[in-house]
Amino acid sequence: MSAIDIQISEVGPRDGLQNTRIFMPTDAKKAWIAALAAAGLPEIEVCSFVNPKMIAQFADAVEVAAYSLTLPDVSIVALVPNLKGAERAVEVGVRRISLPISASEAHSRSNVRKSVDEQLDELARIVALRNSLPTDRRFQITAGISTAFGCTLQGEVPEADVLRIAARAVEIDADSVSVADTVGYANPAQVRRLLSAVRAEIGGRLEAAHFHNTRGLGLANCVAAIEAGVRSLDSSMAGLGGCPYAPGASGNVITEDLVFMLESMGLRTGVDIAKLLDARKILEAALPGADFYGHLAKAGVPKGFARAEAA
Ligand code: ZN
Repeated sequence: MSAIDIQISEVGPRDGLQNTRIFMPTDAKKAWIAALAAAGLPEIEVCSFVNPKMIAQFADAVEVAAYSLTLPDVSIVALVPNLKGAERAVEVGVRRISLPISASEAHSRSNVRKSVDEQLDELARIVALRNSLPTDRRFQITAGISTAFGCTLQGEVPEADVLRIAARAVEIDADSVSVADTVGYANPAQVRRLLSAVRAEIGGRLEAAHFHNTRGLGLANCVAAIEAGVRSLDSSMAGLGGCPYAPGASGNVITEDLVFMLESMGLRTGVDIAKLLDARKILEAALPGADFYGHLAKAGVPKGFARAEAA
């Protein structure tokens, strides 16, 4: 795999499908994930090990994760809401899990039925599980701080709360921290300010940022995150996505548009746009009637467009 400047983590199969009413057939999920990997996406969040009674879309999480782990040259991530989910993910062989920790008390209670501090305790239990395994079987844990830029339930989320959770997650020994605008409230000035503050607090453990395009600021927020030193960005093919507990939050940053923007800026993503658009066709065929977004898919690349090259 060629060197990349910015890692794009495709979250469509998890965040995208989580908020899609239609169940995507398991074989279609596999074909889509394989096509995403073939397009060069270095990391894919493929499912959530949530209780299937809560979200039916992930009833096939074990099968989807097991299949995804057979794909070459791609890091496979699974979201887990708690220790039980982590145990299921690890049993399948997943080596990187993401645990959401809401910065908003109201969202935390609604999303995982725990207070923020109780969810931090859950992180500690997952870290203990990791540490109990032989070194060569240990998995990576990302603490994903959700609703970090505001919350549909609580409204404003104080930056001090985000900083406290980030510091605590590192103290507990999560491998990395991701900061998420779960409901699409963030603006670029806020992103630069908050992520710079998180970086000052936890340094290089701040790895990733996650934005929704709910109010059209997704790409601008990605640029602001890069300016604040973030090197991994989440996005979702065709801008699928949202959170069932955050009403009105739909549409992650659109992967195709993000790849185009970064490559145009001279930042290598490792992603082949033509193959990415092939993967989008698989998605569109598998989810008739769903909402698909994206400018690049409509307009195509400009005449003479070339991918970013090593400086
Ligand atoms: Zn999200």
